[in-house]
Amino acid sequence: VLPGQVTPNGQLATLGVMGGGQLGRMFVQAAQAMGYFTAVLDPDPASPAGLVCHYHIQTPYEDEQGLAQLMQRCEAITTEFENVPAPALMTLAAHRPVAPGAQAVAIAQDRIAEKAHFAACAQAGGVGPAPYAVIETAAQLQAVPESLLPGILKTARLGYDGKGQARVASRAELAAAWAQMGQVPCVLEQRLALKDELSVIVARGADGQMVHFPPQRNIHRDGILAVTEVFDGHLPTALAQQAIAATQAIAEQLHYVGVLCVEYFVIDDGSPQGALVVNEMAPRPHNSGHYTLNACDVSQFELQVRAMAGLPLVAPRQHSPAVMLNLLGDLWFDADGRGRTLDWPAILALPGTHLHLYGKLSARPGRKMGHLNITGATAQQVRATAQQAAEILG
Ligand code: ADP
Ligand code: MG
Repeated sequence: VLPGQVTPNGQLATLGVMGGGQLGRMFVQAAQAMGYFTAVLDPDPASPAGLVCHYHIQTPYEDEQGLAQLMQRCEAITTEFENVPAPALMTLAAHRPVAPGAQAVAIAQDRIAEKAHFAACAQAGGVGPAPYAVIETAAQLQAVPESLLPGILKTARLGYDGKGQARVASRAELAAAWAQMGQVPCVLEQRLALKDELSVIVARGADGQMVHFPPQRNIHRDGILAVTEVFDGHLPTALAQQAIAATQAIAEQLHYVGVLCVEYFVIDDGSPQGALVVNEMAPRPHNSGHYTLNACDVSQFELQVRAMAGLPLVAPRQHSPAVMLNLLGDLWFDADGRGRTLDWPAILALPGTHLHLYGKLSARPGRKMGHLNITGATAQQVRATAQQAAEILG
């Protein structure tokens, strides 16, 4: 699908996305910059991507008419959140190129299938997941080895930003947490002492060509990404290289097309740099790659456009050290829960700050409202600016 191409029905080539959140919005903006028309399927009339696309189809994700409209409008289709029903993607894929494919999305949607995929990749010399057990039945709950406690119980499906998880220290707590979750399929993971967290974003084309961004160092608070840092020396080189190779293997073995992010833990194994453990993957651009909008010569969103449209993928070059600060809804409230006004002029007066707000009308604690990218000449400088910005944000 070439940019600016006029289709037989007299429209400009149109790229579609299932889901209208902030990731869809930034994808749409990247596609539009290259001259594509854009369509979003999302039931929410105020969805961040729906507000900025050319055609907003406001139906549920599995609505036949909605899917038919999306196919009719679009030359190629992608998704922006992993909980898009895989059957809807299969319907679309029968008529249009869909990237990533339904099968890869289905694996990423299900922690049980995802961990099995990671374990299979690890057998081929890759990086393995944390010790875990699958819990789908009362018998499996009983049989959980003691070594997994204290652990984290995670629902197999629909978890995000730390939701659908419970920390459990004993068998009694585990049983109570599973009951609380409605005894849905879960995995119990051993709780690891994390030295660090990182993620790697790759983009793979239908022809198998693959490019990657430098590994990102991520800091989470309450299970939600808070800060991403990417600059020389932020991670040991050997670990970074191992994470890139492992991510490439994971993408390769899924025959993945599009942008894929894989999250890793660094744990203490007695060595100075620590050891990698693979956590989870996201079959789409990722929050930890938002810095690429301002610090790289091609962003993760542009690579998604290129991959789905069958355009060349180029290796991204990071031209500035970067820190990304997530702007969660909590910032919109003071300690007493009253709404507060954020001092954007003071933030924007700091050199190298790039504000991205997602167009969400109402703030809620934990809701991702936007992010602040900080670029500068040196790692020291971006860190210092990030510190100043964090103080102003309060
Ligand atoms: P989500 O889908 O909500 O991102 P994750 O599995 O990535 O779920 O968990 C969110 C965060 O919780 C991780 O980034 C990490 O900080 C922490 N966490 C998750 N699993 C473990 C674990 N096994 N040991 C220690 N910390 C963990
Ligand atoms: Mg995660």
